[in-house]
Amino acid sequence: MTKTMLGLVAHPNGDLRLEEVPVPRIGENPYAPHDVLLEVEYCGICGSDIHKWGASAEEKAKVLHTPRKVVQGHEIVAHVVETGADVTRVKPGDRVVCEIVTFYCGHCPACLEGRFNICNTLKPMDGRAHYVTGGGFAKYTVWPEFQLHVLPDTIQSRSAVLMEPTAGSIHSVLSRMNVRAGESVAILGPGARGILLMQVCKAIGAGPVIMTGLDRDASFRLPMAKKMGADVVINVEKENLRESIAELTGGIGVDVVLENTGSVEPIAESLDIVRKGGRVLWAGGGIRGGITAPVDTHKIIVKEIDVKGEISQIPYDWKTAVHLVGRGDVVLDPLVTHEFPLERWEEGYDLAASSHDCLRVALKP
Ligand SMILES: [Zn+2]
Ligand SMILES: [Zn+2]
Repeated sequence: MTKTMLGLVAHPNGDLRLEEVPVPRIGENPYAPHDVLLEVEYCGICGSDIHKWGASAEEKAKVLHTPRKVVQGHEIVAHVVETGADVTRVKPGDRVVCEIVTFYCGHCPACLEGRFNICNTLKPMDGRAHYVTGGGFAKYTVWPEFQLHVLPDTIQSRSAVLMEPTAGSIHSVLSRMNVRAGESVAILGPGARGILLMQVCKAIGAGPVIMTGLDRDASFRLPMAKKMGADVVINVEKENLRESIAELTGGIGVDVVLENTGSVEPIAESLDIVRKGGRVLWAGGGIRGGITAPVDTHKIIVKEIDVKGEISQIPYDWKTAVHLVGRGDVVLDPLVTHEFPLERWEEGYDLAASSHDCLRVALKP
């Protein structure tokens, strides 16, 4: 095996460069003796990878930069190459996907609740493997065995780059919002994440599931959402969202709103279209440092609305994700719309950041 490889490296000043980096070695990383050397098959470009790409100066200022030089990429599909001395859960040849919350203290109040994703003692850039030991935009990476999930044969490798956002969508819909069969859900924002949220809601029997978008989504993303199971799609630049939701719900409002756009107006809309006693998730724009929006607290008070946030996933969300995708209840293949070799990462980043006909780009080292 060669001692170096090409990796897409983030620098503390915010620069991204494809450069030669050392191939990680078993036994010489923080996960030893539970470390696993992986050969990356595909790695997806996430919204959190491109938030600095083409972002405004104001947005860039709000975003955290990595404190160290490190290979990026966390939507990883890989084969096990070699295992550390104490590894028992995977073996060479296994095809796996990788959880991203790999460092947590295990004894703070959040960890004691099993909420490792919000471990109280770690800084935001110190809890996730792709900010510490390095991610999947390179031929090889190392991961702890406890954060790997073996893929069933029914899941194609390329589409499995979306397993991480699927686990994140399960975190939102089930772990955070406790959506139940028969509940009505409005999902604001028809990106890959929005369509995954919609599919998870449908898979567990929620409905009707309503998906909203803008004019720019009318040619591709909204029809895709409809094709993949949304009961109703609404272009909010053509229809009045508040009136449409009132009509669809007999004037009551939806049980649950999942706000996924990261824009100002949907924050106010979410409080108007949810029913009294309903639940609202504000998740859009989190990766860009969030947004500042005026909130009418009177609506939250008198409607007794539960408002929540979410970040990453907990281990159980991954178990559910492998199950739902493995048996075809959540379909990923049509959402991975583009593929590039790692060397052409810039084209992939440009496309992911700017195209409304693109849902997910997979890079192949
Ligand atoms: Zn991601
Ligand atoms: Zn902790």
